[in-house]
Amino acid sequence: MLRSAGAADAMDGLMQPRPLTIAHIVERAERLYAHKCVTTAGADRHTYAEVVHRVRRLATGLDLLDVPVGARVATFACNNRRHLELYLALPATKRVLHTVNIRLSSEHLEYIVNHAEDDVVFVDRRLLPRIWPSADRMPRVRHWVVLPDGSDHPIPADPRILDYDELLMRADPFAGSFEDAFASADENLASGLCYTSGTTGRPKGVLYSHRSTVLHCLGTLAAGLIGLSESDVVMPIVPFFHANAWGLPYGALMAGASLTLPGHSADPVHLLQLMEAERVSVAGAVPTVWSSLVPRLGNHDLSATRFLLGGGSAVPPSLSETYRAATGVPITHSWGMTEVSPVGAIGGTRTQHRGATEEEQVAVRAAQGQPLPLVNVRIVDVETGRALPRDGHAVGELQVSGPWVASGYFRRGADDSFTDDGWLRTGDLATIDADGYLRLVDRIKDLIKSGGEWISSVELEAAIASHPDVAEVAVIARPDPRWTERPVAYVVLRDGSDHTAEELLRHITPMVAKWWLPDDIVFMTSLPKTGTGKLSKSSLRESARIG
Ligand code: ADP
Repeated sequence: MLRSAGAADAMDGLMQPRPLTIAHIVERAERLYAHKCVTTAGADRHTYAEVVHRVRRLATGLDLLDVPVGARVATFACNNRRHLELYLALPATKRVLHTVNIRLSSEHLEYIVNHAEDDVVFVDRRLLPRIWPSADRMPRVRHWVVLPDGSDHPIPADPRILDYDELLMRADPFAGSFEDAFASADENLASGLCYTSGTTGRPKGVLYSHRSTVLHCLGTLAAGLIGLSESDVVMPIVPFFHANAWGLPYGALMAGASLTLPGHSADPVHLLQLMEAERVSVAGAVPTVWSSLVPRLGNHDLSATRFLLGGGSAVPPSLSETYRAATGVPITHSWGMTEVSPVGAIGGTRTQHRGATEEEQVAVRAAQGQPLPLVNVRIVDVETGRALPRDGHAVGELQVSGPWVASGYFRRGADDSFTDDGWLRTGDLATIDADGYLRLVDRIKDLIKSGGEWISSVELEAAIASHPDVAEVAVIARPDPRWTERPVAYVVLRDGSDHTAEELLRHITPMVAKWWLPDDIVFMTSLPKTGTGKLSKSSLRESARIG
């Protein structure tokens, strides 16, 4: 054993124990990047100075509402500037920003708001009709603060309902330093709360801390990773409620990049127009959204694009290559989970791939990438828990640890998502190669067991998605008396195209083993999505069972 193991007399350094806080991000943006802009839907345009001035009013406004320090405060909002103000003011004043998924069923919504014991809900005016019917079943919520969003949805006459802008007008701007108020505070204070979607069982709350958020922010800012800089214009298409929009809002503020927020519309033309008009250089979205933009990519000048981030589910290589052809920039894979703040790994090629063939580079870009600094990953045998080699071949459950990885769930006690030595079990199957690249094979629960062998639904989907007329595809297992399970593909074709199952099978035959070919290809007009816009295989399985 090393002499250093357990040495109690090791010496402390003499550096300042200043806590890592979101308060610093707010004040840095105010001091250094006052002139930079936050734009919502191409119309609402404010400088960081104006935004932080309103954050200062909101800080006092929260006191006027008697919101206790440590209270959870929910946001039920799209990606807009007022939501960003809440992203800043709540943690900067030691309240906890609880971003609630606006697409949840009322049952999950009520469970989450009650479980979090949210004190106040801030809600976009146009979204009020989705949550207000549940208000009486959320008895702990004292105030409902409506964020003006340009819509004119009726607002019920109820004393619990307040107007956000009126609250800010009533509140004097806080004149002090948010950061100083943290000087003696613990950087491990909670800053944000986000529930995983809970496809099985109850949603689980992931409680971020100031420290984890700042470190995650720095981790993604590193050059060679997302590498946000002052000259970027960042567009988080990924919703603010999807794991802090992958850290892009805090990252943009920390780097001094401008932010372009899409507002409530996910219409492909709207998104592409924004990217073109605002000269967006960095954008992040799930693959289904990237795929929806494909037919119109050629109509827009996207020459400002520098980095496109794709995550949440596997980005088919063909989709990434379509973007590379159209914009010069592929979609860079990012692997993450709500529990990992969310970014754990970033893909793309490195110097060692410079001499590689085009095909080899495409294969590298298809991998989920290398872990971020400070993040550790390992793969283990699902049955035995034994560590597996990093040889690019052994497939095991991916486990992860690091300072922005959850150590447990909010108010849940022990959970088998964590190993005895404190690592997070991701539920993903992966390989890790000698360069440390992760390659996700599938989610454990999505893998198809056929005749004692495994079929990766992700690989089959990538093969089918490589057909230019396929807009969306999901492959699930169908129970089979002989083989245990067989793959079935659900496909949405692009508008105006028409293909038979045989044609698609012919297309993928050279790409996959014969016994991998789906037993059935079912054409659909759309596929069910989760609240975060990913394809929902659990809903497909459910409807396949019923149908
Ligand atoms: P949910 O489980 O509700 O979808 P998350 O958004 O936290 O919530 O999803 C995390 C999961 O998404 C990961 O465990 C993994 O299965 C999948 N995922 C995330 N990023 C990628 C990626 N780049 N490639 C493939 N799968 C991904």
